[in-house]
Amino acid sequence: MQHFIKKVMVAIIFLGAIGTTQVVEAAIVDTNSTYTYESMKKDLQELDEAYGDLIELYTIGQSAYGRDLILVRLGNGDADTFYNGSHHAREWLTTILNMKMIEEYGNAAYTNSRMSGYNVKDLLEETTLWFIPMVNPDGVTLQQKGLNAFPKEIHSSLISMNNGSSNFDRWKANAQGIDLNRQYPSGWAEVKATSPSWKNYKGKYPFQAPEAKVMRDITYLLEPDLSLAYHTSGRILYWNFNVEQVDLARDRSIAETYAYLSGYRMVPTYSGAGYTDWINEVFNRPSLTPELALFAGEKHVNPVTFPETWRRNKGAGLAMAEESIALSSGESVGEQPVVWGDKALEAAIRPPGKGDDLYKKALRVKEDFELTQEQTVELYSWYQQCETCSIKDRELEEVFDSLNHFEEIPEKKSVNTDKSWTITLNTKIDPDSVNRDNVYIQGEYGSTVSVDSVEVAGEKITISPLPGSYERGQTYTMYIKDLASIYGKKMEKPVEMTFTIQ
Ligand SMILES: [Zn+2]
Repeated sequence: MQHFIKKVMVAIIFLGAIGTTQVVEAAIVDTNSTYTYESMKKDLQELDEAYGDLIELYTIGQSAYGRDLILVRLGNGDADTFYNGSHHAREWLTTILNMKMIEEYGNAAYTNSRMSGYNVKDLLEETTLWFIPMVNPDGVTLQQKGLNAFPKEIHSSLISMNNGSSNFDRWKANAQGIDLNRQYPSGWAEVKATSPSWKNYKGKYPFQAPEAKVMRDITYLLEPDLSLAYHTSGRILYWNFNVEQVDLARDRSIAETYAYLSGYRMVPTYSGAGYTDWINEVFNRPSLTPELALFAGEKHVNPVTFPETWRRNKGAGLAMAEESIALSSGESVGEQPVVWGDKALEAAIRPPGKGDDLYKKALRVKEDFELTQEQTVELYSWYQQCETCSIKDRELEEVFDSLNHFEEIPEKKSVNTDKSWTITLNTKIDPDSVNRDNVYIQGEYGSTVSVDSVEVAGEKITISPLPGSYERGQTYTMYIKDLASIYGKKMEKPVEMTFTIQ
């Protein structure tokens, strides 16, 4: 729901030689300093404004201590590639990588320049890249800023989970002491039970931590064709947790591509409960865990090394986007929805009740209304932020207004010669958008029937012919197209209705 007016701010400089243009390297994301939650939020706002409809942001939930979990969409394709970073607090170099990808890939598409041999603009028309650059904003903040960034009441428990130390350099968990990459159900039962700690505590049950729950939800909503969970330790690549035999060659080939481009070594996954493990085992889809850097000891990787990480992952990230297109090409793409004056819409708008999983509710609405991925994410984001909102909420009405579509109404037989039609749409119609060119009735051979009046009242539109305009036994078709709702949304599909005069 970030319908901001987008500003174009991409600067292009012209260099000496005639006919050559050089694009200035995109420069919103600073890759060479301690990259905080606040840096990320500020940079995302700037990227959203700089790159128009190419980039969109969604607040999809909150961490245990109220920091936003932000999902970024880059591109508009049917395939879905999902990148995420900072499951582990001290591994925030991965957030820098996610942010750099968003900016550089976005910039390459926007300026239509090639990157690592890829036409990024074309790529982003075929696949949508989704990013959650910081899965664990509380943990990252604790690791970078220490106790002062958290309420006093929990200082002693944070220190105790950190073995008595108030130096949080080594912290990996969220601020509840749950290791977010031990929260996924695949292999979870086998992980040795511990207690809340700076690392490795798997929680009381999978998806206990709010951050992990959001990861679960967004994965069900996006069903990514390919996903990448970035970590930082060892320049290696995990890829094959309980992958079924039938998928093994496919997944190995994708991992080999990433390994070849990045120079990371493929290693078998020995323990479970991580994000990639869950995708591999439950979704039967390829997912990789690239460990970006050499082990830096029990602390973060120095961002001064980032250029090397970027060199290794820039092309590999695009190669995965391309793989996702091939992976999704076998799937059918649903037709646009058919919704017509439907009470089901109101039911869909109602926020979920207590105990109703938000993603399940969003998926049901997605199915009922054949929502796009983006509409579903927007709806989920609204549920997350507005559980007590009512149907009258203006913002939600706008969301749903964008979901309204129009259908071909079943043919009507035996209609009276003076028949007026009243059609009820599922959104309020802007009367100014109605004219004789977009609401009209035609005879079988294209002759236009004289219309006496077209009246609009809220969601209803009434079309009355001039008396004597219809002939008995003839068939006519009424057309309604290009109307706008009072919120300014355009009808996406015209309405046609055929009827025969008795
Ligand atoms: Zn990690």
